[in-house]
Amino acid sequence: MRYISTRGRAPELGFDDVLLAGLANDGGLYLPAAWPQFSKADFAAMAGLDYPALAARVIAPFVVGSVIEKDLEDLTRQAYSSFTHKAVAPLKQLGANDWLVELFHGPTLAFKDYALQAVGLMFDRVLQARGSRITIVGATSGDTGSAAIEATKNRAAVDIFILHPEGRTSDVQRRQMTTVSANNVHNIAVKGTFDDCQDMVKAMFADASFRADMNLSAVNSINWARIMAQVVYYIWAGLAVGAPHRPVAFSVPTGNFGNVFAGYVAHRMGLPVAKFIVGSNSNDILTRFFETGAMTMEGVQPTLSPSMDIQVSSNFERLLFESLGRDGAAVARLMDQSKQSGSYTVPDAAYKEMLKLFTGARLDDAGTKRVIGEVYAGTGELIDPHSAVGVHAGRAARLDPAIPRLTLATAHPAKFPAAVEAATGVHPPLPPQLADLFERTERFTTLPNDLDDVKKFVRSHARKA
Ligand SMILES: *Cc1c(COP(=O)(O)O)cnc(C)c1O
Repeated sequence: MRYISTRGRAPELGFDDVLLAGLANDGGLYLPAAWPQFSKADFAAMAGLDYPALAARVIAPFVVGSVIEKDLEDLTRQAYSSFTHKAVAPLKQLGANDWLVELFHGPTLAFKDYALQAVGLMFDRVLQARGSRITIVGATSGDTGSAAIEATKNRAAVDIFILHPEGRTSDVQRRQMTTVSANNVHNIAVKGTFDDCQDMVKAMFADASFRADMNLSAVNSINWARIMAQVVYYIWAGLAVGAPHRPVAFSVPTGNFGNVFAGYVAHRMGLPVAKFIVGSNSNDILTRFFETGAMTMEGVQPTLSPSMDIQVSSNFERLLFESLGRDGAAVARLMDQSKQSGSYTVPDAAYKEMLKLFTGARLDDAGTKRVIGEVYAGTGELIDPHSAVGVHAGRAARLDPAIPRLTLATAHPAKFPAAVEAATGVHPPLPPQLADLFERTERFTTLPNDLDDVKKFVRSHARKA
């Protein structure tokens, strides 16, 4: 499979190079040159597979020609072997035709594990085949850092450095990163804010010689491989409630548009989907977009669902590219405009096309607590604040009740215990594998908010790029 950039000016690459590159060198994001297709019969034949077998089937057409093509099912079996629920992504029924897809049974209790556990193994295989190594650097305010660390710990060809703002992540989130004991994992507590951390990561990538010396790589959601691995659970959940014989709807709490874009890919591959409902918290840039056709940046407000506290939805560029008939030059123009003025408007025909498949709804913190309480009272299930935004959005869309509605539950309630307890009176316990999290030893290095200090640390601790 060949991959092309959404801005139309980067070289076409195969899967292995796309995996290592992350961002295209014209500033765009990679997408497959053509969408693989599954027929109704293909989908029907997938219905009895377990999650790792389905994952291998869904990923296969995207990695034709890659070193991971061979023994792909071994890779997916290994990736999901540490998940604590036998079904990997179980469905729970909330009401008639109303389902929760639980995506929090991986090692760090958020949906990011479903992609990163597989992507970590892909990095290792590709790097071993090439005899090279990479240094991953990333900034995190919460879930991404721990999921990336769990996915790359002890991998021979990878060193990982995760920057977090000292004292500004939750205790559960920090401990999930700092209690991992592996000599290729380096946690750096920066005396600064999340934005300071992110600026330093960007500066390291912008320094061409540092980037080349260290073979820097990123694992954020602009990496195509993450989207690809997320397509699997859309097909998994759709098949479980009657696809391909009837259309289904997905409600997705989203920030960067990465997760819901994976659903769109499943649809383009042939899964019948009536609607994607995009749930936002008070940082509602996407909901405002679907209401108006204009994408306008505003400041970020902290909420109870911090993993969706974003200002820019970087993966939206992929949908834009598809909706503009894959016109990379047109995408590049809109992105330039966005950079200059903080706003752009999508041409009317493309906007109307998007509305056939997408709609949005927002929920503020008071509403989030209310929904967590209602779901608990009505079903006995504890849900986390991100999932509550999804449940609300699904209901607000008022679709035909005959269409099965699948809400993606993106985090375990124990990751956000304060909000859940405030809404229900119940303190959600950590699952057994993390029950001793607060007794484990933390390991991290505190550094000043200074780029040179951080670079020096990375240089001296990376085994060798
Ligand atoms: C990362 C994250 C999200 C947002 O995912 P996107 O891919 O940015 O849409 C939602 N919920 C949780 C719990 C997350 O960790």
